[in-house]
Amino acid sequence: MNDVGGASHKMNADIDALIAIQKIDSEIARKTRLADKILPEELEKIREDHRNAEQKLENFEKQLEEENKRRRDLESAVEDTKSNIAKAKQKLPEVKTNVEYRAILKELDNFEKKIVAMEDEQIGLMETIEEKSSEKERLVREAAAEEKKFNAIRAEKEDGIKSLKNRIAELQTQRKSILNGITPSILNNYEKISKQRNGVGITNVVDGSCQGCYQLITPQLYYLLRTSEGIFQCPHCNRYLYYIPEEEKSG
Ligand SMILES: [Zn+2]
Repeated sequence: MNDVGGASHKMNADIDALIAIQKIDSEIARKTRLADKILPEELEKIREDHRNAEQKLENFEKQLEEENKRRRDLESAVEDTKSNIAKAKQKLPEVKTNVEYRAILKELDNFEKKIVAMEDEQIGLMETIEEKSSEKERLVREAAAEEKKFNAIRAEKEDGIKSLKNRIAELQTQRKSILNGITPSILNNYEKISKQRNGVGITNVVDGSCQGCYQLITPQLYYLLRTSEGIFQCPHCNRYLYYIPEEEKSG
């Protein structure tokens, strides 16, 4: 099954080496994108989520602290008002006129009303503070769990980046060892085309169609590609071309 339709297939050595280089280059490109862009972006995203969660807890604690302060302020304001009441009451026995007497009674009445209002606010605040304190406990527990999760994911992503970089270094070493066997002018041309054509400098042809630009090549070129050991480029995208018979692909 090696000889289909009289087309014998023997690959040019430079093309053979370029195919290996292309495979390595594509893998390096994919892994570089992951290591330098995708994973660092994911890492930055989880860092930001983590910072936001921390910020939320901090804001909540700040609010709770403000409410506690307000409650303490009210407490001392109530105490002050009570001592004002005591002072006003001390003045009563010395009062000479009804007008003065009524004025002091009115003052006392205002103080009492003020205390009632402040004590109402205190009760409301104490309820809020109690609710928020248990809510805070829950949030602190959640934040601790999030912190643990964040550290685990961060370590995982950082390890991922590290092993990708190791693999890229390996691939680059492999690449260098193959480069030495390629005709320099062909290699230079491949590098140039690869740069211009989205990292793909050599591609196969299937059913007469270049798999780099998906345009048809001429039947004559297709025939030469299948039958000769020559080096050919796509007339449309300039990429180097190769042909692998069906039975070799599946085998
Ligand atoms: Zn093409």
